[in-house]
Amino acid sequence: MKNSNSKTSALSEKEGVAAPEILKTKSAAAIQGLRKKQPSAEELISGILAGNITSLSRAITLIESTNINHLAKANTIINACLPYSKKSIRIGITGVPGVGKSTFIEAFGTYLTGLGKKVAVLAVDPSSTISHGSILGDKTRMEELVKDKNAYIRPSASGETLGGVARKTRESITLCEAAGFDTVIIETVGVGQSETAVHSMVDFFLLLKISGAGDELQGIKRGIMEMADAIVINKADGENIAKARAAKVEFNRALHLFPAKNSGWNPKVMTSSSITKEGIEEVWKTITEYLKLTSDNNYFEVKRQEQNQYWMMETIEEQLKNDFYNNPTIQKLLIENKKAVQNNELSPFAAATVLLEHYFKK
Ligand code: GDP
Repeated sequence: MKNSNSKTSALSEKEGVAAPEILKTKSAAAIQGLRKKQPSAEELISGILAGNITSLSRAITLIESTNINHLAKANTIINACLPYSKKSIRIGITGVPGVGKSTFIEAFGTYLTGLGKKVAVLAVDPSSTISHGSILGDKTRMEELVKDKNAYIRPSASGETLGGVARKTRESITLCEAAGFDTVIIETVGVGQSETAVHSMVDFFLLLKISGAGDELQGIKRGIMEMADAIVINKADGENIAKARAAKVEFNRALHLFPAKNSGWNPKVMTSSSITKEGIEEVWKTITEYLKLTSDNNYFEVKRQEQNQYWMMETIEEQLKNDFYNNPTIQKLLIENKKAVQNNELSPFAAATVLLEHYFKK
């Protein structure tokens, strides 16, 4: 934590970037007191609605908790915050490690706060469970933005499954919006399934790429291209400029082959550099054009409604699965039945039926 002093680092580590004003004026003892006292759901709600970052961080910690009492308290807070989550734009940013996501978010976020916006940065990083520390949304990687009083950066939640991590991030969006953040950026790595999860919680999905050795489209998953509302060829500076422009032409050509989007939006390809800041403004201009189009044709609202339903179904599936696989009898039966299926003593369907019957009779 390069930007924290030793007195405050413990608190800000646990609770995201806590309000600098509060942390600067409180003594270490007072902070300890603050940590011990458990504010009620009502206190946290009014704190969040007043834009208090400490309340926001505490409520997100409740969302991330596995304690059943915390879950109930978190749900009360989320429900109270829901009506305030309308006036915002949620932007998903994905790209492989090293493509320049955090540098881009730093430059883009700083540009946005310069326009008077309030920017929250959240992350979906399922690998953080394995590596015991999240890389995405890491505050030390966004040194300028972290000091900006109009920005809030929260590292990825950890959890056993992508679904769990994604749910926590999605619920945190609601709280950030209620706390007055009008622009919410969700960062994720371009490997595995996490892009799909992030795509289903944002209004605009941005794919970061860098120009390669020529065959730009090689190795890129079709599904990700299809999800993108914009592709930004990053690091378009110095010797890379010509290559980035060539990549832009190639991506543009490839995008024409995809079917038209329900939004009525034609995905854009742009180049940008977080070093020279060239292209940053254009990315925002593109997003505002998208906002205008999808507000006018009502797609923005319809998509959010669909996403709400999607997350309800996802949560049901996630919790059913968790409950099933954590059931000790099922765990025992699963081992036995897997063996029986492997040895052709039982058909896969018969084995599944036995397990499900056991579970539902529990
Ligand atoms: P992430 O893993 O996708 O978050 O990537 P980082 O933001 O950590 O950037 C990876 C490396 O690329 C770092 O060494 C950055 O300094 C460098 N980088 C990021 N953005 C740019 C850019 O716009 N231009 C250049 N030349 N380098 C960049």
